[in-house]
Amino acid sequence: MTTPRIAIAGAGIGGLTCARVLQLHGFENVTVFERESSPNARQQGGTIDLHGDSGQVAIRAAGLYDEWRALARDEGQEQRKVDHATAALIEHELPEGDFRPEIDRGQLRDLLLGSLTPGTVSWGLGVASAAPGGHVTFLDGSTATFDLVIGADGAWSRVRQAVSPATPEYTGVMFVETRHDNDERLLDLTGQGTMVADHEGLMLWAQRNSGNHIRAYACMRAREDWKPSNAELLDLYTGWHPDLAAFLTGELIHRPLYALPVPHTWEHTPGVTLLGDAAHLMPPLGVGANLAMEDAAELALAIAEHGVRDGVRTYESVMLPRAIDAQERTNAGLQDMVPERPIRV
Ligand SMILES: Cc1cc2nc3c(=O)[nH]c(=O)nc-3n(C[C@H](O)[C@H](O)[C@H](O)COP(=O)(O)OP(=O)(O)OC[C@H]3O[C@@H](n4cnc5c(N)ncnc54)[C@H](O)[C@@H]3O)c2cc1C
Repeated sequence: MTTPRIAIAGAGIGGLTCARVLQLHGFENVTVFERESSPNARQQGGTIDLHGDSGQVAIRAAGLYDEWRALARDEGQEQRKVDHATAALIEHELPEGDFRPEIDRGQLRDLLLGSLTPGTVSWGLGVASAAPGGHVTFLDGSTATFDLVIGADGAWSRVRQAVSPATPEYTGVMFVETRHDNDERLLDLTGQGTMVADHEGLMLWAQRNSGNHIRAYACMRAREDWKPSNAELLDLYTGWHPDLAAFLTGELIHRPLYALPVPHTWEHTPGVTLLGDAAHLMPPLGVGANLAMEDAAELALAIAEHGVRDGVRTYESVMLPRAIDAQERTNAGLQDMVPERPIRV
């Protein structure tokens, strides 16, 4: 018996989880088409805590729980809040009972990649568009037809256009990211997990990754095209303790935050579906990667149980309401975290 031909657009956390769970259930005709030329074309940044009711369920479905546990950092759950002006510790939490260890995104992606049948990912072959019936046009102009095309191609998904006209909109909130290696002063302030400070609509948070690496994010309401210099950013944070201002040095990476309109939903379209950010891009308040993995595992398991056509319907009937709920919660969370007023820049 031939197994269905399934194309997955995007070798991110979601697309790879879906491919892995499908392969575990005997689906051999699965290809992941990734626009980037190789696994190392871009640094896979940041750290991700897998939640017990979503990311961890998916990593179990992928048969990779023990491997993930060996890499995950339990101590990364530490949360520190410091005063913006004195850098003194004002809240300190070592969560108990809610087990959410951290793993570098790059490590998680490598774990998933290494679990796939060799040759599953077609690197450097991006999807230009998809159409109902499983038709795909690639960025090099070639075309192919599959039993199912899964859009796991992230925020600016090309596959999404086959089911919905929605596009991401700027939330009004900007992250400015910095990176620091082996800086003892910043490592002490950050602790083993996450440090946060805020004052009058300005935030700073820092996260320890593996290997004494820190990613820090300054966060504020700003114009979408605002690209501050280091001096302009430091000027905005006038009055903050010099140790905290030290997080704002070095190369600045500007990350305006986008989200899909809420609710984002679509009529079931034969031969095409979406998962992860392609389906429900939302503010990055710690759930996006978890939801992408949960979607991915659920979709693969539903296909294994019900076949492609009914499996996709079953998956969408659960995923879409869950995504709307998470979109509403993260949008409200972003409003609380970075109030509408004052607009800083
Ligand atoms: C600063 C920041 C911090 C975050 N922290 C967390 C966190 O702590 N916890 C959490 O759960 N979530 C977090 N998130 C959210 C999380 O990163 C995303 O929700 C998650 O990566 C979505 O996974 P995905 O597989 O859907 O998409 P992605 O990870 O974006 O992967 C999409 C893949 O598709 C590829 N691609 C794009 N276009 C095409 C195309 N046309 N054809 C083929 N391939 C294509 C891309 O190259 C990429 O490999 C954070 C986000 C940000 C911005």
